[in-house]
Amino acid sequence: MIQDIFPHIYDNQAKEKPIQNGDMIFFFRENQVMLKENQEVYCYEDIQSVILNESFSTEHLRYCFNIDNKQVYIVDEVFHLQGEWQRVSVFRSIRPSYLGFVLITAYQLWLWHHNNHYCGHCGNKMDDSEKERAKICSNCGHIVYPTISPAIIVAITDKNRILLAKNVNSHTNNHALIAGYCEIGETLEETVHREVMEEVGLKIKNLRYYKSQPWSYSGSLLMGFFADLDGSDEIVLQKEELSEATWFDRSQLQKREVLDSLTSEMIDCFRENRF
Ligand SMILES: [Zn+2]
Repeated sequence: MIQDIFPHIYDNQAKEKPIQNGDMIFFFRENQVMLKENQEVYCYEDIQSVILNESFSTEHLRYCFNIDNKQVYIVDEVFHLQGEWQRVSVFRSIRPSYLGFVLITAYQLWLWHHNNHYCGHCGNKMDDSEKERAKICSNCGHIVYPTISPAIIVAITDKNRILLAKNVNSHTNNHALIAGYCEIGETLEETVHREVMEEVGLKIKNLRYYKSQPWSYSGSLLMGFFADLDGSDEIVLQKEELSEATWFDRSQLQKREVLDSLTSEMIDCFRENRF
């Protein structure tokens, strides 16, 4: 999965040190990232050749975390840049693949900074907390932490069959699993049962937790479950959410070429009868 970057080491507790060559600097704007033409990321030593006609100081940099003892920064100002703006979906295909995780995680932090310049309670400008990764309002004391939204995905199985679906908003032709966000006051288990009933009208039983995955494109923390069908297999499709939901026999499943998502790994797990 995208966060499985061993032997690289992600350290989001490391304190900031003086910036040095080799530290990575990412420029983001809505849904886009600036990369070199060969899809390499920018480092500190590249900065002077990237920024056109404007003065730059390290005050514009915001420290995010540490990867393999290199510091990762985002830039909170808009500059005229030389380079190539690419859609953030490139993170899933960039090589080496661990950089995809570094970029997507920094992008989630950039979005959080970008969307929280002002206090949602009193409208004052927010400051960075000196104690923790948080923003704090010097006027009213309101504190905002990075948003992480819990969500579930569930592989519903019935002996040698698995239920796969397509979301109406999906940009790919790939099948996926039933998924949805947790509602206020709900346990994860209740979310799974509710989403399955809402989207395909099925009852399930024997819920087994599999793994989790941070999915920074949407600020989600996905929690994957397997579950057995309980009773009728007749699907009642929620057409506003899904364009298709179909039972597939294990032998019909093809090996997925990219296993960066929890969804892909779980479907592959079922295909190989591993869970
Ligand atoms: Zn405030």
